[in-house]
Amino acid sequence: MKTDTAQQGIYVHIPFCRSRCAYCGFVSSVCEHSDKDYVEALVHEIRERVSGTVDSVYFGGGTPSVLTGGLLKKIVKALRECAEFSADCEITTEANPDSFTDGFAAEAGECGVNRISFGMQSLNNDILAAAGRRHTAEQALAAVERAKLFGFENLSCDLMLGLPCSSEKDVIASVKTLCEQDIKHLSVYALSVEKGTPLYERGYKVDDDAAADVYEKVCLQLKGYGFERYEVSNFSKRGYECKHNKKYWTLAPYVGLGVAAHSYDGTRRSFNTSDIAGYIAGLRDERRETVTASDALEEYVMLGLRTAEGIDSNRASELCGCEWEQLKSRELNELIKLGMLERTLKGFKLSEKAYYVMNDIIVRLV
Ligand code: SF4
Repeated sequence: MKTDTAQQGIYVHIPFCRSRCAYCGFVSSVCEHSDKDYVEALVHEIRERVSGTVDSVYFGGGTPSVLTGGLLKKIVKALRECAEFSADCEITTEANPDSFTDGFAAEAGECGVNRISFGMQSLNNDILAAAGRRHTAEQALAAVERAKLFGFENLSCDLMLGLPCSSEKDVIASVKTLCEQDIKHLSVYALSVEKGTPLYERGYKVDDDAAADVYEKVCLQLKGYGFERYEVSNFSKRGYECKHNKKYWTLAPYVGLGVAAHSYDGTRRSFNTSDIAGYIAGLRDERRETVTASDALEEYVMLGLRTAEGIDSNRASELCGCEWEQLKSRELNELIKLGMLERTLKGFKLSEKAYYVMNDIIVRLV
């Protein structure tokens, strides 16, 4: 089924990595020999499902930067044949520092990629080694330099809180060094130890209170460097928010292509198979579910309150089919009195102090 919705986002999953990180719960394989077959299957799926106008494309993984020999170009060519890219289309690729080579950078540039999101996690070599990352801090900084040499200025880096051996001092030092590289966007995620990962098997546990303290300090630090927090884990210089991720938080439609990708068309969510060999053999939808109005409202409030913009009361009313502010008036008034919620022109957003107890607040509003 083709989705032909105005200004949609496209997510493309590249499920290959050169090795597995100790905390990874994503669908990816270290066996790269099937990448050509995988891209063939992707092109089929693109032809079956993509049309209309696209204003964001996001290559995620896995590690998209392990693609070589024109495979990225092949995917983008198929996308451009099936859909019109808007003039301001944001095209992001995730990349790992060790595979972001001159060859990949050049091909990404030729494909029109205009945003690179580097998975770094830390700039401390001991922490990187403990997390099973393949690269060093030096390689990470060299990758940023390489991206700039190839003309990419919209650069994002990911850091992780709560990794083994990590301390507040290391995180603050990593943030400082990255901000000095003139990057435009930083994502700071708290490690979640997923079942089945090596860290889980080792019985590693994150000290949530310590991670929350570090997060609070990082927020202040980033403010000092001119970054705005536009979502709980995402900070950017003004005008450099990730257009694609904002689609997820506002329940805008998107098409997910590739293994384990999911899609949302406004009323329905579908999930592709997680079986790479099966996908290559032609398996597609694994599961579909209708998103009921109450599910959509719950998601909208949960995701919207994580953003600096907050939630729009009219949109919430549309989703619940009644006056949402009236429905939740007691809870809203209580939270405003407690200083946890603030009114905006369109609705409500969390106050600064509420970011640290947001889950408790969200539960009261859904
Ligand atoms: S690079 Fe990313 S997707 Fe690959 S193993 Fe590491 S965390 Fe997982």
